[in-house]
Amino acid sequence: MKKSIAPLIMAGIMTLASGCTNLGYKSPDDNSAYSQTIKNNKFSKYLKKNEFIVPDKVFSAYENASRTGPTYANSNGNGCAGTCIEDVIDDEGKFIEILSNNGCSKKEISDYCKIFSTKDNIVLRELPDEYSNYFEKALMHERMHYLQNNLNENDMQKIKDCWSKIMDKKYNNQDYSNILSNECKSHEDRVKKEVMLKWEEMLPYMTTIETDINEIIIKDYPEVYQIYNNMKEEAELK
Ligand SMILES: [Zn+2]
Repeated sequence: MKKSIAPLIMAGIMTLASGCTNLGYKSPDDNSAYSQTIKNNKFSKYLKKNEFIVPDKVFSAYENASRTGPTYANSNGNGCAGTCIEDVIDDEGKFIEILSNNGCSKKEISDYCKIFSTKDNIVLRELPDEYSNYFEKALMHERMHYLQNNLNENDMQKIKDCWSKIMDKKYNNQDYSNILSNECKSHEDRVKKEVMLKWEEMLPYMTTIETDINEIIIKDYPEVYQIYNNMKEEAELK
């Protein structure tokens, strides 16, 4: 999970996938059973080779095996829509145990372990049709993380410096300090809080939610805005 989580309203979503049969992710090898079912997901045509869609239960298992997952997923009825992998699974033993209890085969478990442990993979939770809008946003968001993680040092530093300067001012702002110290009630507040706590979230969230930070960057940080635009263009679903 680490830094790259895209939160969304997930009410009712637990009814989505049952077991590990209705799989909609791109298989690491053509012989896998999953390559047949990927066709059923209307977003599969947008996926690049490092991008996967996994069933709700599998993504939940990953959240439960991650240090930051369960807390985040259980607060305010939110879950994560996707993640950009930066490291190995925090508790792979627990992940395997949950998948096994859900009826996944050894082959499925091994594929999922590989998918969730490969740096720069983007893994998305399979969502029902009514959440399509979130799916596109989540994919954009995680692609922004991927691109940002792979920027050159110079550009990355510009983003960090920009974030520090903006946040120095924000910490003195009443609205923002309230968000930091209180339980977040709205999606927008949760986004603001994440952006305040992690520089990595600033540009990815700019693609999906308009806050005053967008205006500040356009006005005062043209170089960062250019980096953002280049990344956004590449992250778009085509
Ligand atoms: Zn993120």
